[in-house]
Amino acid sequence: MQQPLSAIPKALTPSRRTLMGPGPSDVDDAVLLAMARPTLGHLDPEFLVVMDQLREMMRAVFQTKNDLTMPMSGTGSAGMETCMVNLLEPGDRALIGVDGVFGTRMAEVARRTGAEVTEVKGEWGRAFTADQLRAGAEHDRYDLVAVVHAETSTGVLQPIPEVRELADDLGALLLIDCVTSLAGHAVKIDEWGVDAAYSGTQKCLSCPPGLSPVTFSPRAVEKMDRRKHKVQSWYLDLSLIRGYWGEERSYHHTAPINMLYAMHEALRLVLEEGLEARFERHARNSAALREGLAELGLEVRVPEAERLNPLTTVAIPDGVDDGKTRRFLLEKYGLEIGGGLGPMKGNTWRIGLMGAGSTMQNVTLCLAGLKDALSRR
Ligand SMILES: *Cc1c(COP(=O)(O)O)cnc(C)c1O
Repeated sequence: MQQPLSAIPKALTPSRRTLMGPGPSDVDDAVLLAMARPTLGHLDPEFLVVMDQLREMMRAVFQTKNDLTMPMSGTGSAGMETCMVNLLEPGDRALIGVDGVFGTRMAEVARRTGAEVTEVKGEWGRAFTADQLRAGAEHDRYDLVAVVHAETSTGVLQPIPEVRELADDLGALLLIDCVTSLAGHAVKIDEWGVDAAYSGTQKCLSCPPGLSPVTFSPRAVEKMDRRKHKVQSWYLDLSLIRGYWGEERSYHHTAPINMLYAMHEALRLVLEEGLEARFERHARNSAALREGLAELGLEVRVPEAERLNPLTTVAIPDGVDDGKTRRFLLEKYGLEIGGGLGPMKGNTWRIGLMGAGSTMQNVTLCLAGLKDALSRR
């Protein structure tokens, strides 16, 4: 017998916010509409064309020729876990730069593979120098060196070429987290010699959360092919998933079809704008935001040369209540900005200008909202 329901909930009508936090970011209507297209079967010949186009566009955005480039089903953290569980196994060693929440998470995920992990702790709000990372190494040889390219918890952009040199000296593959940098800052996988990278759809790609683009160099693929142990995660095992995204088209798990349509449209929009123009737009709008914040007497964290364009961290002035201010912005302006994480909780705001949300209108709205909020204290 059917259980009586006190009341069937009404159909959802979420408010239209301006999302200027650390993600998810504002999504273009064209991307939302792409999700509303008819669902195809995951082996439909029409869908196989979509898959091939997706992989080609992902390679263009990652600036790579890597054959093994595809979206994982899951958010950015699933991409992180995919890289760790496929590249590491018991007996391996990983050197991981930890100067924020996402470096901390990488180390935790890496340890769960059974590999020996050396965490090099850096200052929150600063990038690593290669010498700092080198000084933290406990062995001459490592299998993997991993750093976060865009640390969304602190607002820091980590230079990659010098970390590549260190990885070469240690005989290691290089993994980078580019969840917040991809399509917001240049991510040059081939030119920098990056062996593995993961991103997410919900930051500068301006697509709803739910997919994680990953790419692996031929050297990384060789390491996976030499594994002595099976990948612990069946769901994220690339040796199985490659069968679906490659020539065989064999079933592993049902691809999230409509999410992939969304990503198709999001990538198309990125390439239509052009990578250089997009990076320039992110730089221009974040510069305007920082200038306006300075005029309000607010202090932007992170030395100028190490700042991220898609995400700005701001010190909350003494006497200003973090939670109350953010609630005020949401209620009065429909504007979401982010609070701090870890040691930055309660003393830092994180303001995102990502993808479709990196606009002069958003900069102006955010500055006006903050001015209003600060005048009420
Ligand atoms: C957002 C983010 C992640 C995690 O992505 P989820 O989509 O939350 O799983 C990982 N790394 C960085 C740098 C991020 O900004």
